[in-house]
Amino acid sequence: MRIDVLTLFPEAFTGPLDVSIVRRAREDGLLDLHVHDIREHATDRHRSVDDYPFGGGQGMVMRVDVLDRALGHVQSLGTEAGLVVLLTPAGERLTDALVRELATHGRLVLVCGRYEGVDERFAEHCVDREISIGDYVLTGGELPAMVLIDAVARHVPGVLGDEVSPEEESFVQGLLEHPQYTRPAEYRGWAVPEVLLSGHHANVSKWKQEQRLRRTRERRPDLLDAGGHLRKPDERETGELQSDGAP
Ligand code: SAM
Repeated sequence: MRIDVLTLFPEAFTGPLDVSIVRRAREDGLLDLHVHDIREHATDRHRSVDDYPFGGGQGMVMRVDVLDRALGHVQSLGTEAGLVVLLTPAGERLTDALVRELATHGRLVLVCGRYEGVDERFAEHCVDREISIGDYVLTGGELPAMVLIDAVARHVPGVLGDEVSPEEESFVQGLLEHPQYTRPAEYRGWAVPEVLLSGHHANVSKWKQEQRLRRTRERRPDLLDAGGHLRKPDERETGELQSDGAP
């Protein structure tokens, strides 16, 4: 998969994407990441990328002409235009289902905002999807882009190798993951649940499923239906409310 990032701060992308699994994916050619500086597409002598908002208001807004030129240039570098994603707190929420869908694309082009965000005409005419990583506001789209890249990379075939399966992790069945333990079996009197040491596979599997449900009921009841049971897959993906209005 090819991912291009448009940002005013390319230097922000060194670090988290240079370690561990994502680093290996890049070295193995499974994830082809390119980071581009939007400012290179400014044309005036001050290299301006932003301006005051029409109608007044706080802060600055990123200019549609500069963003459009930057995007056109980046898209011309690949064999396909790719899915253009704008990171914005006003976008649809990034979920496990959305991450999986993004991972099916051959190319993603991620646009990171700064200041008060981008001119709406860019979002309207040049962007395919607007995505938020959560209900809070960060100073820029660089961290959200890195979160998205990390999450999507895990679903690119070959990236996790054989030892880890994304199918056993939180959210896959619409549930949080069960608790995990490793050696020592007892530490300061804190014991690992007996059943995990029993070697009885059916009992272990039953325990894990009970724990997933219990944790989800306690911590994320919004993932379950009104009766506290698993939602159907289509309800999970849309996040639609149940008919009685419960989340
Ligand atoms: N004025 C905007 C608003 O109220 O929605 C916030 C702009 S924010 C300070 C600057 C940039 O950070 C945004 O354009 C976006 O790219 C990024 N950003 C901030 N929070 C985000 C979030 N939760 N998810 C995705 N991107 C975010």
